[in-house]
This record gives sequence, structure tokens and C-alpha cells, in this order.
Amino acid sequence: VNAADRPVISPARHAARLEAARAATRANGLDALLVGVGPDLQYLTGYLAMPLERLTMLVLSSRGAAIVVPRLERGATEAGVSGDVEIVTFEEGADPYGLVTSRLDDGHAGVATIAVSDRLWASHLLEIQAAIGRDARFRSSSISVASSVLRELRMVKDAEEIELLRLAAHAADRVVAQIAGGRLVGRTEADVAREVRDRLLAEGHETAAFAIVGSGPNSASPHHEASERVIQAGEPIVLDIGGSLSGYGSDITRTLWVTGGDANKGPDETFRHLFGVLYTAQAAATAAVAPGVACEAVDAAARRVIDAEGYGEAFFHRTGHGIGLEEHEDPYLIAGNAEPLAPGMAFSVEPGIYLVGRYGARIEDIVVCGPDGPIALNEAPRELYVVDG
Ligand code: ZN
Ligand code: ZN
Ligand code: ZN
Repeated sequence: VNAADRPVISPARHAARLEAARAATRANGLDALLVGVGPDLQYLTGYLAMPLERLTMLVLSSRGAAIVVPRLERGATEAGVSGDVEIVTFEEGADPYGLVTSRLDDGHAGVATIAVSDRLWASHLLEIQAAIGRDARFRSSSISVASSVLRELRMVKDAEEIELLRLAAHAADRVVAQIAGGRLVGRTEADVAREVRDRLLAEGHETAAFAIVGSGPNSASPHHEASERVIQAGEPIVLDIGGSLSGYGSDITRTLWVTGGDANKGPDETFRHLFGVLYTAQAAATAAVAPGVACEAVDAAARRVIDAEGYGEAFFHRTGHGIGLEEHEDPYLIAGNAEPLAPGMAFSVEPGIYLVGRYGARIEDIVVCGPDGPIALNEAPRELYVVDG
């Protein structure tokens, strides 16, 4: 997929999302939803604005949808916003925050009841609070985070979103195959990470957000930063890579073992056993995915297998995270999260076993909860990749 051929979310979907968000705003008893630059704005309008000290803010209220932007951003906003949104501009140096509060209702007896996007800069939020204070209509304000309204919408992916997640997953699958089939021994982790990023872009990603290349003992550090360590024959590599395609994330982990072509440098018995347990655990967690199943039950399905083999202490992170416009978003597959899965939810399933100081392994797929069970978007083989490197 090259840049020009990348599919995008249709204007009809953005219009439907705006309408659903307005309905949810009303249903939550809010006067308005104030959405600054970030994934919520991108979700509702398609607009991937630059985060700046100058305010860009979508105001969803009973008066409709308006986006307050600096006049110099009008062209970019017209090009970026899809759906029925009024563009309200302010001049350089003028106060935009009064423009925002002017669109609030006084439906709550003098209280401005609003929700702001979770990623809104504190500097903007404080100015909005000050502007409400200056507005004679309001005695006070009640401010909450917009995720209370938007998480329900964003968590359940529609068919267009799932298609983009699938394209991103398949692109990442191809990069895994390319890296596993290439030279690794004698190169630094950082050098391989650079190749991963280049290949993700070549396979259609617009960003290559991360490339974890953990070799040897570094494979036991789940968020290892690719280093200047030189990869050697006879050790594992945890390869955890991803980025975004048309805004939607990829995130895949596969574990390799490089032999350098030496038959005596294959995986040892401990590693083979550890990986076998991990493979079974990842398959069990994926198989547990179905509508109505609690997020924590998927986590438990992986943990049960790993605990039973005595590796419980070596699996020290949650089993997965939601994915969409953000690399990590709701729902989280973690003990204590009783939220039931619903068709359309998309998340990673990524147990790992780490013998700190020695080596470790992880297997990660992006999985969608389908109407009848799991739909794994990644198709790269999940077995241990024993390669010459
Ligand atoms: Zn992670
Ligand atoms: Zn990952
Ligand atoms: Zn992940």
C-alpha cells in the first residue's frame, strides 16, 4: 500500500460518530464535549491537527459541532475535517477561550457542565476554566474527562476500522517475515530496529512508532530499547514492532532464535520448554475471546497455563491492551477488569515469559472479538522462528 492508495475512514462514518457523540453527551447530562488535538479529535472528525500552544478545539453542544481554530489554520482544517463541522476562527493574539464558552448552554442552573478530551493540554484547560469564570452566565463549572463519553464509542470498531487494523497487521506480518529471513548475527539491535522502521514505512505505514529488538538477555526486558548490543549466534531475539496505517495501529511480537547456521547453536531445552508453554498460553488466551467474556478472563486464560508450569513469576505484565487510533487504549486485558468483551473490540493478546538476566519470549497478535469468537488479524506463524540470522 503506498500513501496514495491508503484507504481512509469515510466522511459518512465521521458524521455518524459525531452524531453518536452528541447523543452520548446529552445522555450523560453534559452541556458540551470539548475535544482538543489528539486521537479523540481524529476519531470524531478525521482531523490530525498539530498540537500547538494556539488552541484548536472541537465543541460539541446542543448548538451543533464547531471547531475553534486559529485563522491561519483554516485551510488545514477545511482539508482535514470530514463531516458537518462549522469552522470558527480567531485572529492571531485574540482570546479563543471565550469563543469556546460562548457555545456552552446554561442548561444546568448556572453550572457549566462539560467534559474535556483526556489528552487536552493543562494550559488550555486552565484557560477554559478561567473563561468560564469570566462568563456571567456561570457560577461554577463541572469538568470531567471525555473518555467517559467516548470510550464506549471508540472501543467498538466498525467494519472500516477493522479493515484498517487488518491492513496494518498484514503489513507488520510481512516485515516480521522479512526480518526473520535476513541477516541478524553480527548486527546491533539498533541497526535491525532501523531496518524494521524502514520496512514498516515501505509496507504502507505512515509511522513506524516502535521497534523493540531484544537480543540475548535483553529479550527478558519487555520494553527493551534497541541498543548497540551486537546480536550473537545461539540466542533469542524478541521482535515487537508496530506503527500506524491510515491512523490505525499495528503491534506484533514474534520470538526468533538465531543459530548463525551452526547446528550446535539451536535453542536449549529450557528455552524450548518455556516457548512451548508460552505458545500454549497465547493460544488459550486467544481462544477465550468471545462476546460477554470478561477482559480479566482472557488474562486468566494465559496466566493459568503459565502458572501451572511454574513460570507465574516470570509473566509480569497484563495480557493485552486495546488498539485503534492509539497504540494502547481501552479495553485492557488485566486482572480486575470485569468489563465484558463485545463484538468489534480490538486488542492485543501478548503473554510473555521472562527469565531476567538470561532470556525471554513473547508472542503478540492483534485480535478482534468477533460475533462467535476470536478473529486474529495477524497471520505470521506464531512458532519460534529458528533462523540462521
Ligand atoms: Zn508494550
Ligand atoms: Zn507489541
Ligand atoms: Zn502490544
